[in-house]
Amino acid sequence: MHEPEKGKRIMSFEKILIANRGEIAIRVMRTCREIGIKSVAVFSTEDRKSLFYRLANESYLLKGTEIQDTYLNIEKMIYIAKKTGCGAIHPGYGFLSENPTFVDACESAGVKFIGPKSATMKKVGDKARIKKIMEAAGIPVLPSFENPDDTEELADIVRRIGFPLIIKPTFGGGGKGMKIVYSEPELVPAIQFAQNMGRTAFGNPAFYVEKYLENSRHIEVQILADGQGQIVDLGERDCSIQRRHQKLIEESPSPALNRELRRQVADLARRAAQAVEYENAGTIEFLFEDGKFYFLEVNARIQVEHPVTELVTGIDLIKEQIKIAAGEPIKISKKRTVPNGWAIECRINAEDPESNFMPSPGQITGYRSPGGIGVRVDSGVFMGFSIPPQYDSLISKLTVWGRNRNEATARMRRALDEYVILGIKNTLPLYRAIFREKEFLKGKHATSYIDKHLQGLLQDVEQHTNKFQERMLTSIFHNDRGMPVCDAYLVNEEFPVFYT
Ligand code: ADP
Repeated sequence: MHEPEKGKRIMSFEKILIANRGEIAIRVMRTCREIGIKSVAVFSTEDRKSLFYRLANESYLLKGTEIQDTYLNIEKMIYIAKKTGCGAIHPGYGFLSENPTFVDACESAGVKFIGPKSATMKKVGDKARIKKIMEAAGIPVLPSFENPDDTEELADIVRRIGFPLIIKPTFGGGGKGMKIVYSEPELVPAIQFAQNMGRTAFGNPAFYVEKYLENSRHIEVQILADGQGQIVDLGERDCSIQRRHQKLIEESPSPALNRELRRQVADLARRAAQAVEYENAGTIEFLFEDGKFYFLEVNARIQVEHPVTELVTGIDLIKEQIKIAAGEPIKISKKRTVPNGWAIECRINAEDPESNFMPSPGQITGYRSPGGIGVRVDSGVFMGFSIPPQYDSLISKLTVWGRNRNEATARMRRALDEYVILGIKNTLPLYRAIFREKEFLKGKHATSYIDKHLQGLLQDVEQHTNKFQERMLTSIFHNDRGMPVCDAYLVNEEFPVFYT
């Protein structure tokens, strides 16, 4: 690693390895290009036809069919970083991004890991332990118990906390292995489910039992910490639109908070970051119900939904991550941390909302992404690209900015209407319905929104799609061999169809 020189503005790294794939790899490369850092990409055989690695300055194939041989392979990542002369590794999200062993391996190899220290990661990765640390720091948490091992103890917990409860794997993530329990007979199967998922997906069967809040919102705070005493919060994101405890739509600021609540949650987040000596970019997650915040967890990485914060603050979070990793103190004025306007992101997934959001990988046969004022698309897909079944089902992230929530929702409606993805089932039609639905538009929704409204939303989708699909398909321009030669056009019942 190159030590940062005194007085040098930015970037002691000449080259960065990006240990990830898809849209987040492209996102990191974009910043690298803007600030004059070369990027090195890695890709698996399944990703041979992907776009992301072709945008890097250099790219290396990770051989093997198992994910342990490719994006989870620590030795290969370090070997390539050293071989190519990378001073740092950006882990993106998922894969190795929250793996303390990887952080230690980077450190031993003299390659800077762009993220928090491994000690912090170990603390926050244990979701039961981190709650105790936060409680000791005076941050409110929901009552919970770890690994109660006999029915006697379980009965005692039920007496003390009462139903509903939620059972979660202690070392889990991505909403996996969690189950809500409303009555005694559901308890043991839910525990077995969490233990099994913990064992198979996270290598540890530990679980905890927590009070379940039925009408809560998910509010999280983006923080930046430079490890030199500065902790800056960049406002909150509201991620209450979820399916299977995983986020679908995120916005900043939250429509549920006023100025005082906003200040409260930002204070709690800064204190939480301090309690674990946090360094680099991170997110402190809370549940919010009846005017109170409860600490949920710390995400020790850049998050999927970071663009909403970037749009309301104008701060490039990846650039900040790199600067902090290079040893620079944060130089952001207080004024810039106050969000300007409103941003909303939709995660466009290759999945079928009608079949319980089952993944729908396959080939994109027609594609046109929206544009225009206040519209941002983060994606690595193109017409003809096949979404590989091995990885997550994210096709793209559509994020819009408006001066206020009304302008942002109108802009998102317009952008969703412009967006054409053909050939695979995806969440666009559902989002179009959500952006027509009253409770969401009023900003009154809780995390139970999708469960509560799915049937109505799907009916709305049905009413709207038939006409829409038909006209959209006729709008693809074909050459004399019957191949589509350009993207699909914007068409729906409210707009005229254009032919060229
Ligand atoms: P993961 O780390 O797997 O993402 P989290 O603990 O962050 O799991 O929770 C994910 C989501 O599950 C939350 O955003 C929320 O919607 C729901 N959830 C988790 N714990 C609770 C709880 N105690 N009460 C209500 N909802 C919860």
